[in-house]
Amino acid sequence: MNCNLGQIQRQASKTQVVRHLTRLLNTGVTNPNPTFTEAELNVFNQQHLSKVASSGTPAFAFDIDGVLLKDSQVIGNSRNMIQAITSRARGGHHPTGIPYIFLTNGGGMRESVRAKVLSEQFGVDVHESQVCLSHTPLRTLVSVHGGSTFLASGKGEVADVARSYGFADVITPQELKHKFGNLVPHCRSDPNYFPDAKPARREDTAVWAAEAHEALLRVGAICVMHDPRDWYVEMQLLLDILVARRMQDPTPLGQHQPYAVQDAQYDLGLSSEHACIMTASAHYKPLHTPLYLSNADLLFSTNVRLPRLAQGAFAECLSHLYWKITGEPLEWVACGKPTPATYAYATTMLEGQLAELRAELSGSQDAGSSASAYGSTLALNGPIQHIYGIGDNPHADIEGANRAGPQWSSVLVQTGTIKRSDVPIQQPNLEFSTVDEAVKAIVSYHATARINNVI
Ligand SMILES: [Mg+2]
Repeated sequence: MNCNLGQIQRQASKTQVVRHLTRLLNTGVTNPNPTFTEAELNVFNQQHLSKVASSGTPAFAFDIDGVLLKDSQVIGNSRNMIQAITSRARGGHHPTGIPYIFLTNGGGMRESVRAKVLSEQFGVDVHESQVCLSHTPLRTLVSVHGGSTFLASGKGEVADVARSYGFADVITPQELKHKFGNLVPHCRSDPNYFPDAKPARREDTAVWAAEAHEALLRVGAICVMHDPRDWYVEMQLLLDILVARRMQDPTPLGQHQPYAVQDAQYDLGLSSEHACIMTASAHYKPLHTPLYLSNADLLFSTNVRLPRLAQGAFAECLSHLYWKITGEPLEWVACGKPTPATYAYATTMLEGQLAELRAELSGSQDAGSSASAYGSTLALNGPIQHIYGIGDNPHADIEGANRAGPQWSSVLVQTGTIKRSDVPIQQPNLEFSTVDEAVKAIVSYHATARINNVI
């Protein structure tokens, strides 16, 4: 049984690798989606929009890279578009504002820090509540793990991010390494890692070993919040923490099979009634220390011809080592695009923003209508009816919106560098040349339908 689960896991990974390699080796072309003429795209888009309920408020979730920015430079008219749909109270031109968030698999910094940068890039007041980074949904874990030591792994300011979410006792693999250097013996004698290291005294060994093991057991949850940089240190210490807790359980090694591997990796945050990953984690009871990933992407592309290893690759290696040592699958909960957990969290962010816009409007005298290509006061009538997830990446943005349920539509724009996918779940509902064209057409559809229906 263990062997079968391991085989399933390896087969799934193999398929995933082929898919990723095909996708990533197709990057770098200047016009990635030349499949349709403009007239054909118009027909394609109208066919889908005509099926979308138009009566309520539309909302947008924008991917950033390849949609709004490329190499930190604003793409086309996207700065004007963001200003046009942002409320006057937030420095934009729209009388009421249309709810929108930035939805990215980037991370390693506080949402407030990214919001400040986006505010400068787009010339409006972006609130941190409008920024969903890969690790943002993990803030809901505070109610589950806030009372225990939280290990934040990965590059960037991940410990600072975890503290901003409310975790009081945060530790990093680097801090563990410096405190208990003998846990990473390949680093121990390297002056680059331990410039002031002293040889351990023999009589201290038993005390030191007990303290180190206690520190491993004290970790209540592990979260890989960004791509790990120092793989040896992070792999060794995360494995130590996982195995140390597992060894505490009386169940013989190799006997614990609580979930199918695919369920453990992808489906714990799936259920549409689960508003966030925290609810899903109530069903997540591994015998090892709970493990969360902010992003399960295996590979990513750069200007190198072959793809680079991402956080998911680290998790696959960790999973295989854990299985080799314990004979059991490693169970994790992942968020980030395209997981449904992230889209459920994004939906709650947009609903919260609609309430904020209504509150700002009721306290302002500046609600005068001034219709434009981006609509007038249509946005705040009724609940959020439909959410448009706009992105350039079929694997992350389009698959994510397609899996998010009937309230979402996936919108592909042609300003990225990734070819259209041939995988069915990665086919977009709508496709436009640019994000500006997409927003104009979608807002126009909702505005026109509203007038015709006299809502
Ligand atoms: Mg992108």
